[in-house]
Amino acid sequence: MQRIQNYIGGKFCDPVHDMWIDNYAPAYGNVYAQIPDSDAEDVQAAVDAAKAAFRGWAKMASDKKYHYLAEIATRIDAKSEELARAESLDTGKPLQLATTVDIPRASSNFRFFSTALMQFASESHATGEGVINYTLRQPLGVCGCISPWNLPLYLFTWKIAPALAAGNTVVAKPSEITPMTAFLLAQICDEVGLPPGVLNVVQGYGTKAGAAIVAHPDVKAISFTGGTKTGTEISRIAAPMFKKLSLELGGKNPNLIFDDCHFSKMLEGTLRSSFLNQGQICLCGSRIYVQDRIYGKFKTAFVERTAKLKVGDPNDPLTDLGAISSEAHLQKILSYVALAKREGGRILTGGHQVTLNGDLRNGWYVAPTIIEGLGPECRTNQEEIFGPVVTITPFSTEEEVVRLANSTPYGLSSTIWTEDLSRAHRIAQRIESGIVWINCWLLRDLRTPFGGMKNSGVGREGGFEAMRFFTEAKNVCIRFGDE
Ligand code: NDP
Repeated sequence: MQRIQNYIGGKFCDPVHDMWIDNYAPAYGNVYAQIPDSDAEDVQAAVDAAKAAFRGWAKMASDKKYHYLAEIATRIDAKSEELARAESLDTGKPLQLATTVDIPRASSNFRFFSTALMQFASESHATGEGVINYTLRQPLGVCGCISPWNLPLYLFTWKIAPALAAGNTVVAKPSEITPMTAFLLAQICDEVGLPPGVLNVVQGYGTKAGAAIVAHPDVKAISFTGGTKTGTEISRIAAPMFKKLSLELGGKNPNLIFDDCHFSKMLEGTLRSSFLNQGQICLCGSRIYVQDRIYGKFKTAFVERTAKLKVGDPNDPLTDLGAISSEAHLQKILSYVALAKREGGRILTGGHQVTLNGDLRNGWYVAPTIIEGLGPECRTNQEEIFGPVVTITPFSTEEEVVRLANSTPYGLSSTIWTEDLSRAHRIAQRIESGIVWINCWLLRDLRTPFGGMKNSGVGREGGFEAMRFFTEAKNVCIRFGDE
């Protein structure tokens, strides 16, 4: 059985205490690899390596840093087939999705931030005659990057690339559920000759290796994507140490569908935003509000199309939904379906586990599920399920739907379908979410601020927002004129 290793100080190494974790292939429900069960000692070695590498990396000329990051992007592209296969096997997601979304996006992240570092500039303020202020933006030192299992390489690189571009060195931990592409990325960094210690990858459990990164006094910033509960725990440890924190947390995103929308575009968009990646994208819309005049038409069409989605072998190009990423998560999703029934919800389609044949019979699959008849206050409409489960609810007025949309503790993203541009802009201003999509979904420009309001997080990633997060602003004031 394959064993993957940590990558510390430019060397691949076993965990200090020789402890290992089984790694599962969700499509088959079997163990196919083992990964290091790292602890505080492994993290210490990684932090030591990152500290030793920091001065050299921080002062390296921008065009040299650009070269390393751009080369990593090129190698990701060159190995995209291998990476996509590894991502699909590790997560259970359709290979097609890993090939067209996850891996291209991982190389885009490195390519984007390689150029961002060449463009990033700081401010200067001419205060008056003989006085000028300029702002230095200096790297922080060692940064901790902790990412989840739903979009493993995509989100891992979304943190690491800006952290490195800003001149920091990194200790990074992927989710223990999906470790494989982080290991392959470490191999790529090794191949391109990234100086030892600039990127260190420590594999293992969040509560052990992840917590050790968060608690380490020499880790100056934590960039974390994951659940709101974990984000709270990380803040509790890191905030008293005054670490910089970027927290991208959970969501319970609303789709607002008005009766003047372009119906067929809206339907395609809503199918994607409900069930792409088995609904395991923090940006998926899970509360669908539909204006009453088209509610019946929408319900019929949406249920019919959803029932036809193919749950199947991730390697089959015709598969729409692959496996759920872990057995524990499968059980969580099913428990929410049971809860929705107890709360009075009607299952319009799905609502059950799917058992496939042959090699896939032990895999973790769920039918895409639509639930109707639930009020805004019930747990199904308040808590993040993070699976292929959505609720549909009619509304009549703009006022009412804005109130419904804002009725959860989350505020990550929202989607508005209408041809009335004035209304779209009006709602975009009032809705409590960090990202608003109008007549589209998941359309991304890496320069834009990315992140959530309320319990969906603190801080923004993307573009120069990320470069600012990963640097410390220092103002220098000079008097050079006569008194
Ligand atoms: P978790 O919060 O469980 O884990 C995220 C990462 O944190 C994993 O690497 C995990 O390791 C690690 N971790 C867990 N506990 C700790 C700890 N005490 N200290 C440090 N690290 C820790 O989230 P999931 O992996 O379950 O991911 C799903 C969640 O992520 C959903 O809530 C989803 O909404 C959110 N998400 C948010 C996004 C956003 O941009 N806002 C994007 C994508 C997902 P391990 O896996 O080993 O436990």
